[in-house]
Amino acid sequence: MEQKAIVSLKNINVKFDGEVILNNIDLDIMDKEFITLLGPSGCGKTTTLRIIGGFLEPDSGDVFYDGKRINGTPPNKRNVNTVFQKYALFPHLNVFENVAFGLKLKKLPKAEIKEKVKKMLSIVDLKGYEKRAVSKLSGGQQQRVAIARALVCDPDVLLLDEPLGALDLKLRKDMQIELKAIQKMTKKTFVYVTHDQEEALTMSDRVCVMNNGKIEQIGTPIDIYNEPANAFVADFIGEANILNGFMLQDFKVNILGAEFKCVDKGFGDGQAVDVVIRPEDIEVTTPEKGILTGEVTGVVFKGVHYEMEVKTRGCVWLIHSTVASEVGSQIGMYVAPDNIHIMNKLFPTAYNEITASVIHADEEENSVTISVEGNDVEIPNTYYEKGTVLKIKLPPEGLKIAGNGIGQLNDAYIESVIWKGEYNEIILESDERKWIMRSAQDEQVATYVPICFDFSNAVILPVDREGEDEV
Ligand code: ATP
Repeated sequence: MEQKAIVSLKNINVKFDGEVILNNIDLDIMDKEFITLLGPSGCGKTTTLRIIGGFLEPDSGDVFYDGKRINGTPPNKRNVNTVFQKYALFPHLNVFENVAFGLKLKKLPKAEIKEKVKKMLSIVDLKGYEKRAVSKLSGGQQQRVAIARALVCDPDVLLLDEPLGALDLKLRKDMQIELKAIQKMTKKTFVYVTHDQEEALTMSDRVCVMNNGKIEQIGTPIDIYNEPANAFVADFIGEANILNGFMLQDFKVNILGAEFKCVDKGFGDGQAVDVVIRPEDIEVTTPEKGILTGEVTGVVFKGVHYEMEVKTRGCVWLIHSTVASEVGSQIGMYVAPDNIHIMNKLFPTAYNEITASVIHADEEENSVTISVEGNDVEIPNTYYEKGTVLKIKLPPEGLKIAGNGIGQLNDAYIESVIWKGEYNEIILESDERKWIMRSAQDEQVATYVPICFDFSNAVILPVDREGEDEV
C-alpha cells in the first residue's frame, strides 16, 4: 500500500433538516487501499461516500483529490466511479453492451472498447458471457457486471455502497473474496460501505468505524479488533465482554471486586473505566486457580469452539473454549494482562448531572418542579423554595424509556447500547445534552425514544450563586 492520500476529507459537516449527519469528519484515503466505512444503519456512511463522489456538497469542510481541492466539482469530472447495492444494469443490453456503455459515451474506437471490455470481463470472471442478457444472470454475476462497468472507465477510486447487500450469504462470502482479488489485480482504491463487521474485517486494508456521524476509530482490521478505541468499537467489532471496572493503580484494575493485572497505565487511581475482554481470551481454570470463579449456565457448540455463558458475581461472561465445561459446574477464569483492554468510558461520569432552578415549589405536597430543556419535571419528596438552584446527581437507573410513549423529555436519540454483562448501558442524546441510563431491554440504536425521570435515588443539593454547595 502506498502512503499517499488520494482522497482527503477535512472537517466535513453535513446537516439534514437541522440534524447533524456528519460531524467534523477527517479522513485520509490512501492510494490503492481497500478501506471500509463500517457502522450501524444511519451513522452517515453513505453520506460520506456521496461527498467523495460529488453527489452531495458538505455544509462546511473541504474535499481534496490528489492534493487538489475539489469542492463543487461535479461527479462526472471526478476520477471516481460508484457501484450501488441496486446495480441498475440496463436490462435491454447484454453483458458486453452494459460494460461497454461508458466507453461508448467517451467515443472510444470500437477495437479499443472491445479490448477493454474483454479484459475487464476476464478480471471479473465473466469471460464468455459477452452475449448473455443481463436478466439471465445470477445476482452474483449481475454484481460482477456492475463492477466491470464501473472499473472499465479506469477510475482511480471506486466507491462501493453495500454492493453485496442483495446477495444471499454464501454468494456474499464468495464475492467478498472475489472483490478483494479484483481490487488487488486492478490496483485501484476501493472505498467500501457496509454495516457487516465480518465483511469489513475480511476485505479491508483499513476499517473506518463510524457512529452517529463521527469516526470512532480508523485502523487495520487487526488493530480495530485487538485494540478497540472504546466500548462502542469493541461491541461493534466481534464479540466482547464489556465490563465496568476501576483502576486500582497503574497496571491493576478492579473488575467485579477482583483484582486483574493489565498493561495499561496513566488512567489515574480510582478512575472508572470500561474493560474489554474477548471471549477467546478467557482461560478456563480450576476454581482455585481462577482470578474469578463462576457457574457455567450455558454451553453451545459452534463448530470450532464451545461458547459458554458463565455467571460470576451477578454478571454473565461469554467464553470461547475448545473444551466444554458442564452446565452447573464451577470454573475459574484467568485473563492474561495483555488480553485486558482498558478504555475511557463513553460517558464521562457515573451519574447524570442536572443543574436547574426550582420554578414551582409546593410545600404541602412536598415537591418541586424544575425545567429540563423547556419541559416541566416534578421532583417528589423534595422541597426547596422557588428560585433555588439545584444540583442533581441522577443515577443511570433514574432514567427510563416511557412505556406509554409519553415521556417527560421526548425524542431522545439512542446513540449507543452496550451490554455490560448484567444490563444494557445506553447513551442518549437530547437537544442540549447526553444522558446515561440502564435497561434490561435490548433497545434499538439510532432511534428516538421518550424518557422519564425517577428521582428516588438521586442526590439533590442546593447550590449558592457562585455554584458552591451549601453546607
Ligand atoms: P445505512 O447503512 O442504513 O445505509 P448510512 O450509515 O449509510 O446508513 P446515511 O445514508 O449516510 O447512513 O444517512 C445518515 C442519516 O442521514 C440517516 O439518519 C438518514 O435518514 C439521513 N439522511 C440521508 N439522506 C438524507 C436526505 N437527503 N434528507 C434527509 N435526511 C437524510
